[in-house]
Amino acid sequence: MNDSKLLETFQLAVKSKILIEGIEQYLSDWRGVYQGKTKFVIFPQTTLEVSKVVKLANKFNVPIVPQGGNTGLCGGATPDKSGNSILINLSKLNKIRSIDLLGNTISVEGGCVLETILSETDKNDRVFPINLAAKGSCTVGGNLATNAGGINVLKYGLTRDLVLGVEVVLPTGEIINNLTSLHKDNTGYAFHKILVGSEGTLGIITAATIKIFQKPKAKISSFIKVKNINESIKTLHSLQSYSGGNIEAFEIMSKPILDIVHRQFPNLSKPFPEIPELALLVEFSTTSELDLITDSTGETFFQNRIIEIMSMLIENELIEDAIISKSEYQNKELWDIRENANIAQMQEGFQLKLDISIPIKEISEFWSDTYNKIKLYHSNVKICVFGHLGDGNLHYNLMDKNPEEPYVKENQIILKELVYEQVSKFSGSFSAEHGIGQLKINELKKYKEKNTFDLIKRIKKSMDPKNIMNPGKIFY
Ligand SMILES: Cc1cc2nc3c(=O)[nH]c(=O)nc-3n(C[C@H](O)[C@H](O)[C@H](O)COP(=O)(O)OP(=O)(O)OC[C@H]3O[C@@H](n4cnc5c(N)ncnc54)[C@H](O)[C@@H]3O)c2cc1C
Repeated sequence: MNDSKLLETFQLAVKSKILIEGIEQYLSDWRGVYQGKTKFVIFPQTTLEVSKVVKLANKFNVPIVPQGGNTGLCGGATPDKSGNSILINLSKLNKIRSIDLLGNTISVEGGCVLETILSETDKNDRVFPINLAAKGSCTVGGNLATNAGGINVLKYGLTRDLVLGVEVVLPTGEIINNLTSLHKDNTGYAFHKILVGSEGTLGIITAATIKIFQKPKAKISSFIKVKNINESIKTLHSLQSYSGGNIEAFEIMSKPILDIVHRQFPNLSKPFPEIPELALLVEFSTTSELDLITDSTGETFFQNRIIEIMSMLIENELIEDAIISKSEYQNKELWDIRENANIAQMQEGFQLKLDISIPIKEISEFWSDTYNKIKLYHSNVKICVFGHLGDGNLHYNLMDKNPEEPYVKENQIILKELVYEQVSKFSGSFSAEHGIGQLKINELKKYKEKNTFDLIKRIKKSMDPKNIMNPGKIFY
């Protein structure tokens, strides 16, 4: 069937908006690394419409690329260059279906933007546990499909830990309604867990039920100057034991990335007069009213506790200095530094972005060993590390020391291999939270344990025998 006949068939069968022109924004990824082509972009508004579209695609063997907010960093939502596929954009399937404040769950449609869910739960005195800097555009379907991490994993867990049930359209077009809100449901395979992290290759997530949590009564952030990575890990350990489970997020930023953020965004606040070699950004929270009781100086118990802990860490010479926020405004000022890291780096120039995780106990050694190897063999490279140290996830990004002498782009294969070999040596993962997409297909084959890799492929084959669901992603 030719393209115009196919388009006509879809137009007759479904009510969804279909675009064939003005679709450039859907055809390249957020970083502009991947560009593709498609027959058309379709915007279903209901699960039934998604199902009809997929049934037709299945019937005519047309590959499908599911897309949410298109903020993914591995090219998973970008079609290939053949122009054979159709792109299903889920942004119109975006309702919050229900929120259960007694059971602490929320049911949302796949195309719902993360920020919408965050503000809805906030209004209801709850926290939606998935939170990342792309929240203004990314969708919950994309978050599930990539098993997104973000800044709150330390406290609440990864997306896969938080999903209770999903509604999904399989490659056949069949709708599976597994939208349970039960916290306990031991009735056979946890099918929804396989969907999380499947990057659109097993089905289209049209809705999900996700855990929500009590909203903290207060939050305090601290920007901390530390000497080195070893002390950073010790600080994590100390704060975990002294703060009584109050740590919401524990982030690290090295000087090169702080330099970039402040150069690109000079209006952001600078916590210290001089940019530290290594900084931690820690968020503490409390859900207890009792913590809000003030003393004669007007400070709350909670503030006093954090000040005491920080003073103790300074006295013990574990940390060098700490700025502690006194208001929500100051919290935001500190977090703006961290949340602008990705965009600042993108504006600055070419970067080899590596999203790795290392067992916490190995991080110090990985850090110095890898640093020494890069310095020894690739002295032109600047190592810009930031990320979610609390859960072992580092954004280990490499850039040119001197942009006039480009080196990283030309040597990216060898540099990537060096870092990934180090990751493997320290029992880490080459893909912590961004997924595989098109970007890391070879690495998955190389580093995933062979039997597990074969099993994943067998699952894909049994669920999508025609290979129409996001082909060319995760594996060839
Ligand atoms: C500034 C910035 C900061 C970021 N920070 C983080 C971070 O801290 N942690 C993190 O994990 N990621 C982060 N990311 C990456 C990205 O935001 C996440 O991967 C996000 O979950 C993707 O959501 P999306 O809706 O944009 O998905 P898309 O980019 O549209 O798609 C991503 C993948 O999911 C599939 N997909 C999308 N929707 C569906 C659906 N409904 N059903 C089935 N498959 C679907 C696509 O086919 C594709 O394979 C960041 C990105 C940016 C730009």
